[in-house]
Amino acid sequence: MTDTLTPVLSDNWDAERSWTLDSYADGGGYDALKTALGMEPGALIDLVKDSGLRGRGGAGFPTGMKWGFIPQDNPNPKYLVVNADESEPGTCKDIPLMMASPHTLVEGVIISAYAIRANHAFIYVRGEVLHVIRRLQRAVQEAYLAGHLGKDIHGSGYDLELVVHAGAGAYICGEETALLDSLEGRRGQPRLRPPFPAVAGLYASPTVINNVESIASVPSIVRNGASWFGSMGTEKSKGMTLYSLSGHVTRPGQYEAPLGITLRQLLDLAGGVREGHELKFWTPGGSSTPILTAEHLDVPLDYEGVGAAGSMLGTKALQVFDETTCVVRAVLRWTEFYKHESCGKCTPCREGTWWLVQTLARLEKGQGTEADLETLLDQCDNILGRSFCALGDGATSPITSSIQYFRDEYVAHFEHGGCPFDPAKSTLFA
Ligand code: NAD
Ligand code: SF4
Repeated sequence: MTDTLTPVLSDNWDAERSWTLDSYADGGGYDALKTALGMEPGALIDLVKDSGLRGRGGAGFPTGMKWGFIPQDNPNPKYLVVNADESEPGTCKDIPLMMASPHTLVEGVIISAYAIRANHAFIYVRGEVLHVIRRLQRAVQEAYLAGHLGKDIHGSGYDLELVVHAGAGAYICGEETALLDSLEGRRGQPRLRPPFPAVAGLYASPTVINNVESIASVPSIVRNGASWFGSMGTEKSKGMTLYSLSGHVTRPGQYEAPLGITLRQLLDLAGGVREGHELKFWTPGGSSTPILTAEHLDVPLDYEGVGAAGSMLGTKALQVFDETTCVVRAVLRWTEFYKHESCGKCTPCREGTWWLVQTLARLEKGQGTEADLETLLDQCDNILGRSFCALGDGATSPITSSIQYFRDEYVAHFEHGGCPFDPAKSTLFA
């Protein structure tokens, strides 16, 4: 891992009125677009492939490879869709990026759409964040006025229309195929894959869907080259990225650092766990990734390192919990979220998440038994791998991992008739 901490994505966030076109252009903004328009689209795809950029929405799929799947002999229009429906609990990196530097995303959209030969692009933003939608709309308007969007961009002969589309606040619409249904005006529910969107996506046409941070990484790759990007991070997980630190941290916030940094190093930057307390458990990438513990402070935060520790890097949303947190309560809270957000399309998730909440709530109240713990694991087993999309699988992750590391704490709840962290509810303090 390289030791550089020079920001790339967040380098202009502290500039005065960083969200305006003038401020972005002062720092060299839209120069990469002019370079890209002078290249062959295929050469741009190769550049992104060579850089090693992997999708920053959670799955880490190679971005250039995804672009390369677009069948150019398909007569249908091609589309680029930016997934800005950031909703995974703890995940809060794309919204700050769009607020501080919307033009980094807009420039990335234009370059990426040109690379896959799309003439229409969409940014699908979650509906609750009106301030973000307004900021993006203003940036898109500025880009049209400056000739970065529209017909014959900078005399290149290339046309692109970009639309900012507001979702209606359903977590499932962050799942790429549900997002496409929603964008087409239907109720958002996942579609069967394959076919993947690259082959049959928006209006059954070839579509690239990328996360905000992935697309926003493209202008810097065009500006500085593939080997510059590849010199940061680890062998298989390249580049700088945004980590969101929240919870019991002295200075929570966004930290841009190379892939492969560890939580221990990030906590050093963030002032550590809040004073007088110690780390108990944490999520590497939002609540649908298995939790980890203090034993894992030195795990490299890249796709391979976190995977080897039995979890997933996911969205790099590092939620930190100290010893005052009841793990059963935290897991119940997350499970209630997944139950609420289950789209209802498939039985294992629709019914299963309901049962998970019933069983967990009984355990949390101290009314459960050892048999309930086994039932809970059995319920997870019946959801995992049997659900239609990743939501069902993700709902089981915090439960199975918390029982793996904190089974004693579950047992303490029913042995003491209540939460061992709450003197009002447990016989532990009697
Ligand atoms: P996935 O691994 O199934 O797919 C990743 C991407 O690669 C998709 O765009 C998919 O179309 C493409 N792809 C995969 N195989 C392909 C193939 N053979 N041909 C063409 N394209 C292919 O992951 P997913 O189900 O799309 O996403 C799961 C991830 O989403 C999880 O890792 C989770 O961390 C993340 N997530 C993020 C949020 C958020 O708020 N950002 C919310 C929930 C989940
Ligand atoms: Fe819907 Fe859940 Fe099934 Fe996904 S797993 S399709 S969210 S019911």
